Amino acid sequence: MDTTPSPTGATGTLAHPDHADGRHAVVLGGSIAGLLAARVLAGRGDRVTIVDRDEIGPDIRPRRGAPQGHHVHAILAGGQQALEELFPGLTEQLAARGAPVGDMLADAHVVFGGNRLCRTRSGLPLVGASRPLLESTVRERVLAMDGIHLAPPADVVGLRSTTRGIDGVRIVRRLAGSTGEAIDADLVVDTTGRTSRLPSWLEELGGAAPPVEEVRVDIGYATRRYRVPPDVVGGALAVVIGPTPERPRGGVLARLEDDVWMATLYGYAGDHPPLDPTGFEAFAASLEPADLTTALAESTPIDEAVRHRFPANVRRRYEDVRDLPGGLVVMGDALSSFNPVYGQGMAVAALQAVALRRRLSGRDRVGSRTIARAMARTIRAPWELATGADLTIPGVVGRRSRRQRMAARWAARVQTAGTVDPAVARAFVHVTGLVDRPEALIRPSTVRRVMSAA
Ligand SMILES: Cc1cc2nc3c(=O)[nH]c(=O)nc-3n(C[C@H](O)[C@H](O)[C@H](O)COP(=O)(O)OP(=O)(O)OC[C@H]3O[C@@H](n4cnc5c(N)ncnc54)[C@H](O)[C@@H]3O)c2cc1C
Repeated sequence: MDTTPSPTGATGTLAHPDHADGRHAVVLGGSIAGLLAARVLAGRGDRVTIVDRDEIGPDIRPRRGAPQGHHVHAILAGGQQALEELFPGLTEQLAARGAPVGDMLADAHVVFGGNRLCRTRSGLPLVGASRPLLESTVRERVLAMDGIHLAPPADVVGLRSTTRGIDGVRIVRRLAGSTGEAIDADLVVDTTGRTSRLPSWLEELGGAAPPVEEVRVDIGYATRRYRVPPDVVGGALAVVIGPTPERPRGGVLARLEDDVWMATLYGYAGDHPPLDPTGFEAFAASLEPADLTTALAESTPIDEAVRHRFPANVRRRYEDVRDLPGGLVVMGDALSSFNPVYGQGMAVAALQAVALRRRLSGRDRVGSRTIARAMARTIRAPWELATGADLTIPGVVGRRSRRQRMAARWAARVQTAGTVDPAVARAFVHVTGLVDRPEALIRPSTVRRVMSAA
């Protein structure tokens, strides 16, 4: 067993310590999607090795490989349900670690498209966990499972294949003087996130890269943490102010564990919030209604603001790659990366993990393309919701279709009705929370309510 020390002093082995027979799955990337994939594969008896370039320790703070951990991370209800299916009791565990738990509409001020949704019980949970808390809690559950091995830090640099499909991964350890090594694999799962290099790795093997779809938003995020006095936002756990086509800016103020509040501001098409305190607060003051501004005026900042830029929604259509090699699965942001203002990424990864589990259940071999199609089905609704809303904003670059314009007009009417009819507000957040399909908004009962509210 190789126990060479890593630069940070940690030791470890790339080889899976369990030499028993059985399928060996290698998961590339140990972030949310990778952890969920590992959980599913180990749950069916595979030996699983997770490879990430980060030194992943038990501490609860943003990592270099997941810098988005500095910013608000909502767990949409559909994702929360999927996470509970994979890790029963997870929400309780997060609550025990200090995350406040409430109701999505009763405990939040939610303003979409300039419409303040009714404050009513939605039946959907609102979990105030920071991204690092959620990731570390999930990681703890995953690494406690039999058969899962977290390899020491290494960069994945390519794949290895035979005529039967992918049979290994090429890596370079994060060690001075390290040269390439390979890990044998019966199954490889790419969860290296939005910067995934899988398309070029496939080309290196003589295959085809997937067709890519993009909707360019050029979003800039700025996030600052605060102490907020009790009852400043009427006892709510969150304030959510979405953009409008006329004012493509938005913000979220959310209570997290340890009674820390996170204020995230964002603007589209290059209109990014400044980091300096005066500019940050002036940007917040430009949002309407003024709930967020009022709250920040009474609050005390904890640290400096940090930024994140997000250029485009990106979707890679692996389901359309005819010669997709066997033994390959792609999940999470590596497959589709959504404008983060809709808070979908982690929920979609969780829904994909559940879909993967169903697809694999009871079968030894399932084709890569069959799985890619199952993954594509999990993306359809969130992609339509995110890009449909984005394309109403001037400056966003993408294909605007008649269908998308009609759907956006209807969504605006639903939001308006949601200001006066609690049932419509509930129907709306069930769809945006990825619990119900978008078609739920054109059910006859909802249509009647939207019409009569108008
Ligand atoms: C600013 C921002 C805010 C967001 N807010 C929300 C939100 O509110 N709600 C929500 O659900 N989602 C949100 N998201 C999206 C969410 O962060 C992702 O969808 C989620 O992290 C799932 O990503 P992943 O596991 O697929 O990839 P990532 O989290 O990007 O992880 C990829 C992992 O792969 C590793 N890696 C990459 N390349 C290599 C390589 N070559 N070799 C080895 N390791 C490698 C990295 O170190 C990293 O650990 C937000 C994203 C951003 C940017």
